[in-house]
Amino acid sequence: MEPINPGKLKLELFCRGIKIDPSCEMDKDGRGIMKVRAGLGSGLEMILPDDLYANIPVLEPFVQDTPFKLIHRGGKYFVCRGNAELAEARLAGRPQWYGRNTSKGRPMTQVGSMQGTTLGFYPTRVCGFWEMTPRVNCRFCATGINVSNDALPTVDEIVEVCQAAKAEGTTFCHFNVGYYGGKALEVILPFVEAVKKRTKLLVGVQAPPQKDLSKYDSVINAGADHFSFCYEFHNPKVFAEVCPGKQKHLTQQAFFDALEYTTQKMGKGRNSGEIIAGIEPIEDTFAGIDYITGVGAFPTICVFRPVIGTDLEKSPSPDYQDMLKVYRRMYEACRDNSIPTGIAPNIKTSLVVLPYEGKYFRENTTLADFAYDAKLAVMRSLFLVYFRAKMLFG
Ligand code: SF4
Repeated sequence: MEPINPGKLKLELFCRGIKIDPSCEMDKDGRGIMKVRAGLGSGLEMILPDDLYANIPVLEPFVQDTPFKLIHRGGKYFVCRGNAELAEARLAGRPQWYGRNTSKGRPMTQVGSMQGTTLGFYPTRVCGFWEMTPRVNCRFCATGINVSNDALPTVDEIVEVCQAAKAEGTTFCHFNVGYYGGKALEVILPFVEAVKKRTKLLVGVQAPPQKDLSKYDSVINAGADHFSFCYEFHNPKVFAEVCPGKQKHLTQQAFFDALEYTTQKMGKGRNSGEIIAGIEPIEDTFAGIDYITGVGAFPTICVFRPVIGTDLEKSPSPDYQDMLKVYRRMYEACRDNSIPTGIAPNIKTSLVVLPYEGKYFRENTTLADFAYDAKLAVMRSLFLVYFRAKMLFG
């Protein structure tokens, strides 16, 4: 096999998906496909070379045209393009806690799920945008299809899942809340407080922006380590068209205000602005990357996935060559703004190409790249001690 660029392979698989050959033993070796939250987790959890976690589309109709196939041979898995084996890969295995129940008798997989090495929760009622008449959900979103309001998990159950996952090496959990009539932070606060106090896991929160910015202080004081703000599109017209609820009830400016407020409070590289690439013009995505990194946050860029059942299910998957340009820009913007990336240990989210994976997209390695790499390597070593202590003592 020729040496392969794992980052570019991950990106092309996001854009084109993969077919699963009948030789693969998915039930035995894999985690199974779980439909969670906004829908990006609807694919196959794989581990590519260099330990890159990736949730690869397998169900969407565009996958019919993919040149990629996963085969199983001699006890190993290979990603093939046509008949050529490109790279050995692994299926992300089922954690042991996937087979356990909470103290209330509920399967733990109904409470949380792994996305790469991180633990994701959607612990509250379905996003309010799905419950309005007419509904004003974001048009790419599958939350209203995937999330049920029946028997929401309790704080104790969430803590139990965190404890079980931490015992198997998880370091970070992520809470996602949809629109909650301006009360998203109040609703998520007890979960953050309990998880921080009782498990010491690192905790991230993704919630709609709050107009009263002082509400962030209580969640920061409860120990939240990270906030992500999904404003999705930098182009205001595309934002309004594709995210009608966010436009009407929140506004794009509210996302900017909350991102800037929390970044000023928590420091550079702690929080993220989340955008989707592949719907708005690429120049707008570049402008979004420049804005996010310019305020000291890191960009989380999702490759648009036309998830089955969503309003945009018939849209095409993004062009790989365009996405290469996007992730190259992501890398350069993080480097030029000295954004620390990949510092916290074992946070390998499978849903996106992570900022620290941006190094796979640079064209020629320059002195500025070497300097940035060196700085990140030093920060990783120094902060490892800090994070270990934080996960032991809080
Ligand atoms: S805010 Fe938009 S993306 Fe988030 S859950 Fe609601 S509809 Fe989905």
